[in-house]
Amino acid sequence: MPPSPSPALPKIKLSPRGAGRLKAGHVWVYRSDLVAADGIAPGALVTVVDPRGKPLGTALYSSSSQIAIRLICHEPVADLPALLRHRIADAISFRERFVRDTNAYRVIFSEADFLPGLIVDRYNDVLSMQILTQAMDSSLVRETVLSELVQRLRPTAIAERVDPRVRELESLSPRASALLYGQKTAATFTMNGVQFHFAALEGQKTGAFLDQRENYAAAAQYAQGEALDVFCYQGGFALHLAPRCSHVTAVDSSRPALEVADQNAALNQKLLGQNEIEWIEANAFDLLKDYAAANRRYDTIVLDPPAFAKTKRDLDAALRGYKELNLRALKMLRPGGILVTCSCSYHLGQADFLEMLSGAALDAHRTLRLLEVRGQAQDHPILLNVPETSYLKCVIATVS
Ligand code: SAH
Repeated sequence: MPPSPSPALPKIKLSPRGAGRLKAGHVWVYRSDLVAADGIAPGALVTVVDPRGKPLGTALYSSSSQIAIRLICHEPVADLPALLRHRIADAISFRERFVRDTNAYRVIFSEADFLPGLIVDRYNDVLSMQILTQAMDSSLVRETVLSELVQRLRPTAIAERVDPRVRELESLSPRASALLYGQKTAATFTMNGVQFHFAALEGQKTGAFLDQRENYAAAAQYAQGEALDVFCYQGGFALHLAPRCSHVTAVDSSRPALEVADQNAALNQKLLGQNEIEWIEANAFDLLKDYAAANRRYDTIVLDPPAFAKTKRDLDAALRGYKELNLRALKMLRPGGILVTCSCSYHLGQADFLEMLSGAALDAHRTLRLLEVRGQAQDHPILLNVPETSYLKCVIATVS
């Protein structure tokens, strides 16, 4: 039986293409695929209907973003707070089933948990929350989400991390990052037995790159000899590699990130023993060029750059950037060496990433043997019908 529309909700009619996207399992409809949305309030809960008026489900509306519709349920929704509570419970039980070896993980991953526009990360007893859409910013939603998180996860504190650019795109009034619950802003957390400092109101993203957690453990399995961690941030890969390697050099352009990295190394003194990590503040492109010119050689190299392709239009320039990095790394690896190379650009798909890498190998006159083609950690689930939920690539290969 097709769902009947919720009588109280405003209706938005979609073009055939917009309706087709939802029928194909996606949850977004772009503004150009709305037939009309006049007078609909920013962030409203709406019923979406196909060109013939047949209901397709219930969605959150944005009056400002190009992604005008984010489907939240295929059925009518009479009680939004009840739906949110149900979704949060589901997201938490997914993590209880699948997340291992850590007390830091993504609790809620937006569309992938059917809570579009909401991200919640857990760092031990402190939660970090990000709100990305008008609908999720309403006080009703905020209050419901907060009380449910407190009740289910019993955190000591909850902080909100604000991305000013996102608020501007959603026409939301500016707001500062701040604590929403409790008093605590600092914690330590553990991934795969390695400890990290967390400061709720500092750092990039919500504090750490939790999506790489399983890749750290995988990379550590193969790491050997002299290692170079390029784009190291607070030391995620470097700290995992150090117990397996004779020496680790780690590079980032952000001094604050390297200061935390150094404190993280101190926190793991027992694990690291005599293996010190050398933290270097530099532009990775310049540094790799200099090291290559100086004939430096490594047994393990990790490349984990920021997303070079933020939009589809950046793709060509991004590919050149990735290729340059990978080419230089390949030339510096000793025979039998290990390359761990990543991309977090959604717009660069896995096939294109592998093609770039094979081009780099050809140009460097090296042979790559794939050990693992990996993605993001399981607490960042991928919805097969929503390709945008899959963004991280991590290839581990030997080089000869
Ligand atoms: N590997 C890290 C995450 C890296 S995120 C981890 O697992 O935690 C990308 C990092 O690249 C950021 O820390 C950023 O400061 C750094 N960065 C960006 N541009 C850079 C450049 N040109 N040279 C060196 N570092 C850069």
